[in-house]
Amino acid sequence: MTDSKQFSFPDENGYYGQFGGAYIPEMLQANIDKLQKTYQSILADNDFQKAFHTLLKDYVGRPTPLYFASRLSEKYGTNIYLKREDLCHTGAHKINNTIGQILLAERLEKKRIIAETGAGQHGVATATVCALRNRECIVFMGEKDMERQAPNVARMKMLGATIIPATSGSKTLKDATNEAIRYWINHGEDTHYIIGSVVGPHPYPAIVAQLQSIISEEIRRQLLEKTGDALPTHLIACVGGGSNAAGAFYHFLHEKKVQLIGVEAAGKGVESGESAATTFLGTTGILHGCKTLLMQTKDGQVVEPYSISAGLDYPGIGPLHAHLFTSGRAVYQQATDDEALKAAFELAKLEGIIPALESAHALAVLPKNKFKTTDKVVISLSGRGDKDLATLIDKM
Ligand SMILES: *Cc1c(COP(=O)(O)O)cnc(C)c1O
Repeated sequence: MTDSKQFSFPDENGYYGQFGGAYIPEMLQANIDKLQKTYQSILADNDFQKAFHTLLKDYVGRPTPLYFASRLSEKYGTNIYLKREDLCHTGAHKINNTIGQILLAERLEKKRIIAETGAGQHGVATATVCALRNRECIVFMGEKDMERQAPNVARMKMLGATIIPATSGSKTLKDATNEAIRYWINHGEDTHYIIGSVVGPHPYPAIVAQLQSIISEEIRRQLLEKTGDALPTHLIACVGGGSNAAGAFYHFLHEKKVQLIGVEAAGKGVESGESAATTFLGTTGILHGCKTLLMQTKDGQVVEPYSISAGLDYPGIGPLHAHLFTSGRAVYQQATDDEALKAAFELAKLEGIIPALESAHALAVLPKNKFKTTDKVVISLSGRGDKDLATLIDKM
């Protein structure tokens, strides 16, 4: 019963199979209702699409290349193509979403943008588009994360954003998210909340997946040009919340011949108690406003996730991925910190590309899978490694 729409679009209540929905405080209902009622027509509007694609081209630098990695291909005895999201302005795929959402905010006539950020990557992508479109920007960030990610805090300030430290709880992402929601409750009239991945209450997962689907739209076109066939045999992407993977999978979801592989962070090992291997360890629950798979204790306390890569350090996955996992449409594999580091150094030496540590997790499953010489393997290289240089130097 896997008709082509089942995976790309949630049902009218925002469910992908049993996952999704909008579990929100009463006081956010009006905001979320408005978004649910309007997002599809806004995103489909011709003027919106034109403005979105013009900015993606002239500002972000799209289309990003689909690069045939010949030395990496030779090493693994197959044909490997890298989708170069690392070449996007600001260094990762996250800007595809924030460009789309700032245009959405303009059409909703919201003068102020808020966002939460953990490592600061989504905060930087949000501050960037707020500068571009002259919107007030407030970023909520855990106090502890602000210390750990000082360069991104400086970038956001330079771009004109106000950073509000979250000082409660563990002083990390989940506390920043709580602060952002609290703010939104009190300022819903004039404020749009930009969520950074395919997570949160409906319609956020659907909005973010649709905006990121530009990745698979380009892959289809580019692969057809290069090989005469738009379909790869395998498509691999790392999964934090799951937005680069959702974007890379989107236009292949109904093509059952394409093996979809999501890669989650196994940290120090899936059984070590220090990982972010959500499909492997997770159970169904409510996280950040939606029903999904998350890492939690038996009595429902969210388990603190761990990964060497800040972008994968998230205790849940988006509801679309929870559905792809339970239905078997996609498989999810795990890569440890050490495996990701090894893959990052390998790509640097073989191809002259230093990947983000998140993206290195996708590369790290190459030795764990068997490929034929005729296979076409596309890997989403979600970001560049500049931001991870200190960690990489430390492990050299
Ligand atoms: C944030 C980030 C990720 C993880 O986010 P998803 O929503 O899972 O894509 C992956 N790669 C990079 C480079 C990131 O910055």
